[in-house]
Amino acid sequence: MTEPAHVAAGEVRCPTCLYRARWSADGEVLAVEQEGGARAPDPHPTLVSWRIWHAARQGGDRVVGACPQCAMPVLSADLPWADAWTLASKHGPIRVGHDLLEGPAGALDDATVDAWMVDEFQPRFVDQLLDVRLFFVAVVLGILGLVLLGWLGAIGYLVNWFIAMANQGNFSGPVGL
Ligand SMILES: [Zn+2]
Repeated sequence: MTEPAHVAAGEVRCPTCLYRARWSADGEVLAVEQEGGARAPDPHPTLVSWRIWHAARQGGDRVVGACPQCAMPVLSADLPWADAWTLASKHGPIRVGHDLLEGPAGALDDATVDAWMVDEFQPRFVDQLLDVRLFFVAVVLGILGLVLLGWLGAIGYLVNWFIAMANQGNFSGPVGL
């Protein structure tokens, strides 16, 4: 069986999860060289997708499709560009492709979109600090709660003991009280 002349094949790699394979120009997987899946998109899939597209648009390897393992853009020096992707953002859907970058209001430049993406999806240091503080407060409250439960249990035990002693007419109280 002979393949059509225009169907080339090439190496693709996922910079996110380290998947590596040989694909046809149509995105058919011909051979998997490395399973990938080793890393998840961090910090946010939309920001990771944007950064890979952004770097490709600046002259890096081409984005040629989506990774079958982690759904992030895969890169290739051999294969043709993928169709544009749509990235959901609070500014509306942003279409990014080889020679396309536009939002609901029209064409955008890379610097603008990059600032938007970082603003929306990059965790801020202050937020992370807040997370740590909230975690700490939750742990302290949890410990206090357990201590309180312990005290309530002890009081309940003493009350029961008093009642039992009183009912037996042998009320002398616990030692030391
Ligand atoms: Zn991947």
